[in-house]
Amino acid sequence: MITPTLTIGGKAVPGARSFPVIDPARGTPFADSPGADESQVDDAVAAAQRAFGAWAALTQEQRRVVLTAAAATIQQSADDLAQLLTQEQGRPLARARDEVLGVPALLATTARFELRNELIREDARGRVELRRKPLGVVAAIATWNYPLMVAAGKIWPALLAGNTVVLKPSPYTPLSTLRLGELLRDTLPPGVLNVVAGGDDVGRRLTQHPDVRKISFTGSVPVGKKIMAAAASDLKRITLELGGNDPAIVLADADIPKVAKRLFWGAFANSGQICVAAKRVYVEERVFEPLVEALGSIARGVKVGSGFEPDVQLGPVNNRAQYDRVNELLESARKDGATFVTGGEPLAGDGYLIAPTLVTGISDGSRLVDEEQFGPALPIVPVRDAEDALERANATHFGLGGSIWTSDRERGVSLASRLECGTGWINQHGAFAFEAPFGGCKWSGVGYENGPIGLESFTEYQVISEAF
Ligand code: NAD
Repeated sequence: MITPTLTIGGKAVPGARSFPVIDPARGTPFADSPGADESQVDDAVAAAQRAFGAWAALTQEQRRVVLTAAAATIQQSADDLAQLLTQEQGRPLARARDEVLGVPALLATTARFELRNELIREDARGRVELRRKPLGVVAAIATWNYPLMVAAGKIWPALLAGNTVVLKPSPYTPLSTLRLGELLRDTLPPGVLNVVAGGDDVGRRLTQHPDVRKISFTGSVPVGKKIMAAAASDLKRITLELGGNDPAIVLADADIPKVAKRLFWGAFANSGQICVAAKRVYVEERVFEPLVEALGSIARGVKVGSGFEPDVQLGPVNNRAQYDRVNELLESARKDGATFVTGGEPLAGDGYLIAPTLVTGISDGSRLVDEEQFGPALPIVPVRDAEDALERANATHFGLGGSIWTSDRERGVSLASRLECGTGWINQHGAFAFEAPFGGCKWSGVGYENGPIGLESFTEYQVISEAF
């Protein structure tokens, strides 16, 4: 049995309560996670507040050295962390390992960006300089689909900029994040990074705490709205990375076999549980049949099962609530007259396994097309032409990502720039570049992570104005 601890003020702290963690491949508990109560959340914020002054006083270079040493410990524990991640998240072991290794890789990229002071004016009258200052205590609240990478996207830039952090993982995937806290405990000064697991109440307490100066949140749109409201009363800074309903638009001139392979994984990687998975496909009528056929033949060859089985390509949906939601959307599509080209049913057993499901015969107005499914189900909708597709793609509150698939690169770029979303891809979907800012427009988010803009978002400007 795993016995993780919370990390508060650099110390291992048993939780005031505990809750079971479920193995998504079996639907049964496999471990207990410690959970923080209100006083432990307050202790974590107090520890972060105490650590802030000394950490902020270091130079960025000094913090970079400490963080790089910390990241190396994660690299060394990649196998252990990957086991834990597959166990609680469900994804195939090799993919879990990729995620773990992404954590030090993200730091290496983020650490390349310098927060520089800028000289605005210097003349006979005086000198005006623009400085970037850390904010203070940052609450980092994460989701379950990529627990470690979502955490890394917050803690590395926040810490590098001189803030201290209280990190709260999702109650569905607390263990790998608690282990991350344990691994970093010995290399980071006490209180610089605190990790408290628990339910939504722990997140709420953090967002309401007067000493938290910024909330960096990844999760759903409804909770994102609650966090914005909670932050308002204290004018806390926020970054919100929220849900999406990414359209993929396939034009008639596209190379269909090539598109099908990339698009399939752009939609179904991590069993569709990616904020920027392709979640609806609009395809020009002329190539509708060949695309559906090509995607169907890939879907039929994919091995679905426990992430620990060899050769498994897609693991289970992470949790019961999400599994029920995907099945509910499939049921609703069935009522709307959908055809299931592949899948459509849960697989046998008590785990949350759903075969990759390709759906035709429904269109905009059907819930599976209009809502975020966040699971292994993809609706494919024929359209008249690119303009028809763009209109449908943009007719939504979401605005995270979107893609254009075509042999005409120039046209691809031109159409992608007309998508109302944070990232427009051409002939790929969901590719991340750690150096580029990542974020959503409309309901998909507020602010950006990654790249120099992501790093700066953990700072405030200060003007130092001097008279000679
Ligand atoms: P969720 O919003 O239910 O929960 C996310 C986190 O918020 C959890 O840790 C939860 O305990 C906490 N929480 C819940 N209520 C809270 C409250 N009132 N105050 C403070 N914290 C609270 O989301 P989820 O189901 O874990 O994640 C799925 C969603 O996340 C999907 O919509 C997906 O698209 C989105 N997501 C977005 C990105 C992105 O970068 N844009 C990345 C991954 C996932």
